[in-house]
Amino acid sequence: MSTLIRGGTVITASGETVIDGGAVVIRDGRIADVLRRWDAGQAFDGDVIDAAGCVVMPGLINIHTHGVTPGPLFPSAAAALPAERWMANLDRHLLAGTTTVLSLCGFASMDDVREADKRHAVHVRGATTHLPHCLQAAELADGKGLTAEVGDLTVEGMLDDGAIAIGELGGGQTLGGGGQDLVYIPAAIQKSSGIRVNIDQARRIKEAVLGRFIDIRAFDPAALAEAAKDAGLADAFTATQLAKLVRDTVMPSFVPAIEGIREGVRAASKFGVPAIVHSASATASVLRELMPELEGTGATLIAAHANHPSHTPAEAHELAVLGNKMGWPAEASVFDLLHRRRTVKTREHWDLLLKEPGLISVIGTDYGHDGDHDELISAVQDIAARGHRSLAGAVAMATSAVADLVPGIAPGSGRLEAGRAGDVVVASAEDFRDVRVVLADGVCVVRDGQLTPEAHR
Ligand SMILES: [Zn+2]
Repeated sequence: MSTLIRGGTVITASGETVIDGGAVVIRDGRIADVLRRWDAGQAFDGDVIDAAGCVVMPGLINIHTHGVTPGPLFPSAAAALPAERWMANLDRHLLAGTTTVLSLCGFASMDDVREADKRHAVHVRGATTHLPHCLQAAELADGKGLTAEVGDLTVEGMLDDGAIAIGELGGGQTLGGGGQDLVYIPAAIQKSSGIRVNIDQARRIKEAVLGRFIDIRAFDPAALAEAAKDAGLADAFTATQLAKLVRDTVMPSFVPAIEGIREGVRAASKFGVPAIVHSASATASVLRELMPELEGTGATLIAAHANHPSHTPAEAHELAVLGNKMGWPAEASVFDLLHRRRTVKTREHWDLLLKEPGLISVIGTDYGHDGDHDELISAVQDIAARGHRSLAGAVAMATSAVADLVPGIAPGSGRLEAGRAGDVVVASAEDFRDVRVVLADGVCVVRDGQLTPEAHR
């Protein structure tokens, strides 16, 4: 089967190559040719896609996803999503031009990952956190998704079975972060009072009890009283009760989760695979401790969502600069900070880190609110539109740079070059979220912005 995409602005993700009015020929699942032009009258034996007014780029590679496979959800090993939910999450990625995802939930088996990969056109890759302290942290934070088999898996076994990275080491759920604010603290408050608080109220209460760095010495009773009153909890709890509830929800998993990060980066260094570490205010000090320890070992240690809003923008910047100096590539997550703005309501960290050349290597989405993150492709457009990178540079951050950083995530993909995999996206040049066509391995899986029957198998 052959496809010709002609007339669009072709961004190859190899260096700075942008070809206006170029053409891409895909044959037998692979890119056969990238051409400067294709005359309208020239015949083609196959499917012809007119990409006038569109950008044409490699299928995006998302280095930071959750909820895209069966098996335990998140680093807290929460209950597995039903198949229709993880399939719908993959649909969302595909409809936005992402053809490869790395699942960073960490406790799924490679059978779980392969099932998702097999049933959906998106290429699904797996990572592992099957380490004693990571498991303990998950059990203490949630653990409802754990099955007997999970305990038998090891990082070494998972890597032998095809996992390509270690991660996500730590997470908001196990480290008193956004996952606690969104899910576990509101649930604990509701369970004992019947009152539902929202994510912002939960965060404010938590920070009054534990500060931004998750430290019991940071307790501020006056701030807690204010936060409790504003959340309508003044009659339901005494300050002592509410502080205890927050500590009991957040703290048990915190110490093992930090130890799990140490365990994980050492395993990455030992096995020579990349590790992806949750970077946030709660992990800033362990990252500072590990950076010199791992220096010169050649390990690829990736700071996930270096733009995490638990940092102040200045803290995020300082940690990213240090990481950069110590050889830790940084990923910036778009979360939902561009459009939806339910979990991250500021773009300050995003802009501050991205405007500095070379500070951020790659971009991902993370999970957003219940999987409703902003589109990776709109992050690409935003980075170019704001002038943080050239268009080619912005595309590379979600394609070739990811493929180069994590060997195995998309071997043979990530660039529009002859011989590479036929993973190609055509999107409106005005608004990249308006994705018209997606090819995965040369098969049309999105057409006119809709999934084709080939998207699911
Ligand atoms: Zn994270």
